[in-house]
Amino acid sequence: MALLTLTLLLASCSSSSSASRGPSSSRLDQWGNRAGPSGFGTVVVDAGHGGKDSGAVSRRTGLVEKTLTLDLARRLRSELRGSFRVVMVRDSDAFVDLDDRVRIANKKDSVLVSIHFNAGSRRLAGPETYWWRVDSYTLAKRVQRNLTGVSAQDNSRGLVRRRLRLTRNPMVPCILVEGGYITNAREAKSLANPAYRAQLARAIAAALREQAAEGDGNLGPLPAFISAPPSRHGDARSS
Ligand SMILES: [Zn+2]
Repeated sequence: MALLTLTLLLASCSSSSSASRGPSSSRLDQWGNRAGPSGFGTVVVDAGHGGKDSGAVSRRTGLVEKTLTLDLARRLRSELRGSFRVVMVRDSDAFVDLDDRVRIANKKDSVLVSIHFNAGSRRLAGPETYWWRVDSYTLAKRVQRNLTGVSAQDNSRGLVRRRLRLTRNPMVPCILVEGGYITNAREAKSLANPAYRAQLARAIAAALREQAAEGDGNLGPLPAFISAPPSRHGDARSS
């Protein structure tokens, strides 16, 4: 197993090496190759999109992503108060650049939860949780498990490893949550209901408290490290 891991590491290192990236960028990469967090005191809550960037908009269901993300972020803040210090990336209908979100997330002793809602084929429904780094895996797994417990919809990609600006670039454990598909008629009906959004917030908060108390716990084995450069504009979907 160790040999296999080493082989994968060597293979990925050699395939991703380039003249433009020096040793410092390799060290940046290694930040996420560690055990998952426990005992952290700060949660950075990122309401996706905002201002001129509406995110997904469904004319069919009337839902707008940037409005839902801020609502769920505020509900999550309420749920987390008392357990964590909460930093909101935005608390109004404001545009924040993705790289600025990364900078805001880089707080000592923190984890980042970025909140989004999905759009796609009208048949797709259910929450999804995105992660990339080894240190973010068990948090993503817990969040996805809890969200699945709340949602009656189960036709989504589920837990997804994807290199995004907000799953790769911060110096702290980081996940991106898609709370559901605004393009699915049944799920949109749930998402339009404040009581359902409160349930989603409680599910995410419970996962964060469990992660802080137990770290990786018994959710292992941890995934293999994949060496890859920081995500930049245009090289992955920006969610
Ligand atoms: Zn989004």
